[in-house]
Amino acid sequence: MIIDGKKVAIEIRNAIKARLDQTPNVNITLATVLVGDDPASKLYVGMKHREANAAGLRSKNIELPADTSQAQLEQQIETLAKDDSVHGILVQLPLPGELDKDRVLARIPPEKDVDGLTDVNMGRLVQGQKQLVPCTPLGVMRLIDAYKIETSGKTAVVVGRSALVGLPQFLLLAERGVDATVTIAHSRSPDLAATCKTADILVCAAGSPAMITAEHVKPGAMVFDVGVSRTDQGIQGDVDFASVSKVAGGITPMPGGTGPMTVACLLENTVLAARLQGALKV
Ligand code: NAP
Repeated sequence: MIIDGKKVAIEIRNAIKARLDQTPNVNITLATVLVGDDPASKLYVGMKHREANAAGLRSKNIELPADTSQAQLEQQIETLAKDDSVHGILVQLPLPGELDKDRVLARIPPEKDVDGLTDVNMGRLVQGQKQLVPCTPLGVMRLIDAYKIETSGKTAVVVGRSALVGLPQFLLLAERGVDATVTIAHSRSPDLAATCKTADILVCAAGSPAMITAEHVKPGAMVFDVGVSRTDQGIQGDVDFASVSKVAGGITPMPGGTGPMTVACLLENTVLAARLQGALKV
């Protein structure tokens, strides 16, 4: 089974559009902040704006030069934080040079933190009181829901332990009501293949091209490929699709899997942020 992230992402976007069409007087705005001119980051930001606008959201793109100082960047975030017409703030990562991402994220009010990366939103997730959750692991959970993949009583393995993907994915799979038994693996894990092979649900977020092969995958497992690497052969996921698709029960393609879901969940988070700020009542 191909787990079609593109299709589910379009369904989410259309559902948001339908909902916003019923409240024509409400304008919800997503602001992105892009520092420098990294082509991949520009591409991602462009995609987020296109999808936001297609869903009926407004968007504002702040582009700053690569030599922007820490103070200037933090000042820009403060301005957006105070702007009542802006409901979501996303700082495109990674930041260039010496800019300190943690100090920048700390300036985003938690209720406008549509990437779910501030300490408050991370803390809420850990405490089982989630509000705004990081978009990529949320996207995987939406795919699990959309394809009615059983999680309770199942074994899940997450490869990668970053705050952006791996750790929140671990928490979302382990939370009450989802109830998977979750292992988190990383670059120091011994015998990764044996660990991965225990998984009914395998989420790969390492950024190491085609590192997951058939020998890592339990027959029938659901495999979610999050990693994105730019190689001489083009964009490559963490999963060797050709071999893994022969043993997996379900697999996300790359592209067209977790990437579009990340953007769709950013739109969902922006709508939720507007609700948290009282701008949207329903
Ligand atoms: P990151 O901060 O570099 O974290 C990578 C994690 O993977 C680390 O925990 C690392 O272990 C682990 N790892 C790396 N190589 C490994 C290996 N060979 N075996 C086992 N574990 C390994 O990256 P990230 O921000 O989490 O992103 C992960 C990947 O997802 C990247 O390719 C990124 O581009 C992609 N991504 C995709 C989307 C999407 O929408 N599809 C969104 C965000 C990110 P250590 O902790 O031991 O170093």
